[in-house]
Amino acid sequence: MTTLAYLLLGSNLGDRAARLARARTDLAGAAGHVVAASALYETAAWGVEDQPDFLNQVVALETSLDAPALLAACQAAELRQGRERRVRWGARTLDVDVLLFGSEIITIPTLTVPHPALPFRRFALVPLAELAPQLVHPQLSRTVAELLAECPDELKVNKMEGS
Ligand code: ADP
Ligand code: MG
Repeated sequence: MTTLAYLLLGSNLGDRAARLARARTDLAGAAGHVVAASALYETAAWGVEDQPDFLNQVVALETSLDAPALLAACQAAELRQGRERRVRWGARTLDVDVLLFGSEIITIPTLTVPHPALPFRRFALVPLAELAPQLVHPQLSRTVAELLAECPDELKVNKMEGS
């Protein structure tokens, strides 16, 4: 059995586009099949604003892993690019978050899915809406397009042309 998961990739240190590309390769090797990838979006850092802009991308991954194993694969991909966990919301070489895991609702200490911040983050909703505007959020019963239209976040999210 496979599950379609949506992952948010983010980087704001070094060659950001190369980091996202390597993350896609690493995730495909460890966790399944990247069946779709959004454009790259340049986004203002959220939370701690005195840091470089992020590049963000959402990928749809078809995986036969369960959700905790997928999270472990995401964290392994982060570590392979030298991710250190120091400052909450601080600059990072690579961040990989699980936005959705099929229509599963998961609340265990290490993993909350759907990602609780999704409705409040334009930098996640904009690329997700590019891939799956009609997807229904399993807890909120609203489509991704509706969540984006209602999102209160005003930080900039600019599509990188040609990506
Ligand atoms: P953030 O992504 O919030 O900036 P981190 O990437 O450092 O912060 O993640 C902190 C912790 O969040 C991880 O160790 C992980 O166990 C937990 N976590 C809970 N839910 C999720 C999720 N849906 N996706 C990724 N990490 C999650
Ligand atoms: Mg994270």
